Amino acid sequence: MTIIVHGQALLTTRPDGTVAEHRDVGVVVEGATIAAILPFDGLTRRYPDVRIVGDGRDVILPGFVNAHHHVGLTPLQLGSPDMPLELWWITRMLCRAVDPYLDTLYGAFDMISSGITTVQHIHGWVPGTLDTVAAASENILRAYDDVGMRVSYCYAVREQNRLVYQDDAAFVDSLPRDLQGPMRSWFDRFRTSLDDMIALFEQLHERHGGKSRTRIQLAPANLHWCSDKALDRIALAAEGKDVRLHMHLLETAYQKEYARRRANGASAVEHLQSLGLLGPRMTLGHGTWLNQTDIELVARTGTCICHNCSSNMRLRSGLAPLNHFKAAGITTAIGLDEAGINDDRDMFQEMRLVLRAHRTPGMDDTVPTTADVFRMATTGGAQTTDFAGAIGSLEVGKAADLVLLDWDGLSQPYLDPLTGRLDAVVQRGRRDHVRTVVCDGRVIFDGGRFTQVDQAAAMRQLHDQLQSALSNDEVERRKLSQALLPHVRRFYARYVDPSRHEPFYRQSSRL
Ligand SMILES: [Zn+2]
Repeated sequence: MTIIVHGQALLTTRPDGTVAEHRDVGVVVEGATIAAILPFDGLTRRYPDVRIVGDGRDVILPGFVNAHHHVGLTPLQLGSPDMPLELWWITRMLCRAVDPYLDTLYGAFDMISSGITTVQHIHGWVPGTLDTVAAASENILRAYDDVGMRVSYCYAVREQNRLVYQDDAAFVDSLPRDLQGPMRSWFDRFRTSLDDMIALFEQLHERHGGKSRTRIQLAPANLHWCSDKALDRIALAAEGKDVRLHMHLLETAYQKEYARRRANGASAVEHLQSLGLLGPRMTLGHGTWLNQTDIELVARTGTCICHNCSSNMRLRSGLAPLNHFKAAGITTAIGLDEAGINDDRDMFQEMRLVLRAHRTPGMDDTVPTTADVFRMATTGGAQTTDFAGAIGSLEVGKAADLVLLDWDGLSQPYLDPLTGRLDAVVQRGRRDHVRTVVCDGRVIFDGGRFTQVDQAAAMRQLHDQLQSALSNDEVERRKLSQALLPHVRRFYARYVDPSRHEPFYRQSSRL
């Protein structure tokens, strides 16, 4: 089927990172692909019976890429408050078990309505056997397929140090006797081995890897969660199927210290390099505590970084040295991680946060520009997925993933022509302005309505399911989480020597 998407302007990132603007444009979409981008005038004569999407008043943007995402209902919605990351894992234990299909739809509704057409879904932390995990994965993929969104899916491989930065058995032994049994049972709930997780990847890759809107990637969850043996296996599997990797790294100072202890004084980045894991295939999630040597190594190897700005703020992880990533020429993406600042996965707000959070004092040009942030949310994000090259910008031959933004709503009652469209979109654009979203050549959201699934029915079902009483397992986990918190606090109390880990952003903000 052919459609023409009509806008008063189109913004898209060029290969050199600058943003191009085309006026009064028609994007001819044939099937799932952009066949032409031409002046709209005259197009209807050339394509007389074709459906026109848009009334010519909107601004057309490439669909955004949320390059780091985990769940639908947010931890806050599930009763887990924002805490420093290492403690937050403990409060995260109390969250209820949510239906993965409905949960994924919920997150997808948030994302699509803020202009996101592709998500890197990093699934994980699922109790049970390989069969249980595989069933949850299938439900997640089915939800994205049903709603019409593009997904790059990976399952976070985690096979050690599953609660604190210490061996599970040693941590259990360090607890008071009455907590040892419940803690051991909690660990025993997770019954997937490294072999299982590699098998899961291969199985999902086989079943879904070739679909137009699905890619299956690999995710070593974080350095502390994977032994070197596991990292080797994952690297080999990624090479075997030629897929990209996404790995949380150096999210907090505690993780930086963990790496120092594990790698005999080397940094986490240097350790990954020694294992051959850096390169364009690898994206580091967060990278909050990279130092200048790490940044140079990341740049030299072509490794990408996904910047999860709101998550870093909410979980007190720190401010990533984004301006230094930029100066080094690193490919960066934006990840909303669990929820964003408003707990609602709004890409416009996250772009604005990234734009504002790194405006260090001074008059140099090291701070992010609107073009930088737009690039991060589009072509930068695309590079971190196996859709790279096919999505992220609007060009002939690329995937028809686009967003129509209500320019009248954005520019009323007045916007001086001196303020360019890109600046206005990045600085004033809101979820409310998203009128239509096209993914893979199909309109999936239009006028506030999802066209492929019944949003209200799905959300009613999700609500109803969570009205049931807590299961025994959920009650046990709540008790355990509460009882563990002081012990975990104690574990980390003297873990980091502050003189050894001065936050890099403090150095970067010195004039
Ligand atoms: Zn994450």
